Amino acid sequence: MGHKNKVYNNVLDLIGNTPLIKLNKITAPFSGKYFAKLEASNPGHSSKDRIALYIIDQAEKQGLLKPGDTIVETTSGNTGFSLAMVSIVKGYKCILAVSSKSSPDKIDMLRTMGAEVHICPAHVAADDPKSYYEVAKRLHEETPGSIYINQYFNDLNVDAHYHSTGPEIWNQTEGKITHLVACSGTGGTISGTAKYLKEQNPDIKILGVDAYGSVLKKYHETREFDKAEIYPYRIEGLGKNLIPTATEFDLIDEFIKVTDEESALTAREIAKTEGLFVGYTSGAAIQAIKQLNDDNTFDENDVIVVIFPDHGSRYMSKIYSDKWMNDQGFLDSFKVEEKEDVKI
Ligand code: PMP
Repeated sequence: MGHKNKVYNNVLDLIGNTPLIKLNKITAPFSGKYFAKLEASNPGHSSKDRIALYIIDQAEKQGLLKPGDTIVETTSGNTGFSLAMVSIVKGYKCILAVSSKSSPDKIDMLRTMGAEVHICPAHVAADDPKSYYEVAKRLHEETPGSIYINQYFNDLNVDAHYHSTGPEIWNQTEGKITHLVACSGTGGTISGTAKYLKEQNPDIKILGVDAYGSVLKKYHETREFDKAEIYPYRIEGLGKNLIPTATEFDLIDEFIKVTDEESALTAREIAKTEGLFVGYTSGAAIQAIKQLNDDNTFDENDVIVVIFPDHGSRYMSKIYSDKWMNDQGFLDSFKVEEKEDVKI
């Protein structure tokens, strides 16, 4: 990559080809070499730029979209921002059904980017008419000339990463990658990247990161949907209360579950140690690496690539707010003791 002597036609030309950055301090105690794929370097500040552009391009190629048509989606925020950005440049209307769990900053950003935003309750079943899935489906049916991106159940989500993220990581590591660590939400990133990488070298291990409160890990191990696994959690964009068809479970070797608290504290640690201001799930991914090291998963010759899906600025009112962290009870160990005045 590099922008030297280059002029771009529009913001969409900047999507993809994100940098791979060596991690130095935070992974120093661990075996192996660690590199982060910095998806915040996309112009919409997340990996979702890739799928937004790819899926809309494919719809255009199939003649499904004409100027002035509408893009509908359900989103935790990042996909919505990317779709809104692509829609503006390409001349489409963008309607988004968003979880009430999303940061207020994310929702404000979507509206700034011209999207029509519908906020839906986070903690209802996926088939509840109030859920963001059902609301998005209804909005699509009610809007003539609209396409429904449906990222959890759209194979093009996987294909976008198969054609971009996968080859980029393979080339950037000169084929030396031994492990990929990636958070799984829709599963598009991990599945598409894994598919490409395993085609190049089937020995590459694919490690997925899941949240406590999500069904993915249990489903991976048993192929059974266990409702008992589901309960509310804080991390946005990671884990799920349903089984997305965009997740190719056979390509994933293992899932690691992480807690809200450790992921949030680790995200803050990434900023302090590496100078990288990244989102909540980047913290989750490094937290998973810590746990994998506790289990001696890696040896010193391993080349581990971890995906950092988005930018820290999206979480100012959450993990980067001391008040929010205190309200969750996540900063207890850092609380300043009130001391009596020193008397002389
Ligand atoms: N991290 C963040 C912040 C996300 O928004 C998402 C997408 N839901 C992911 C990780 C997971 O990516 P994917 O949907 O491709 O599994």
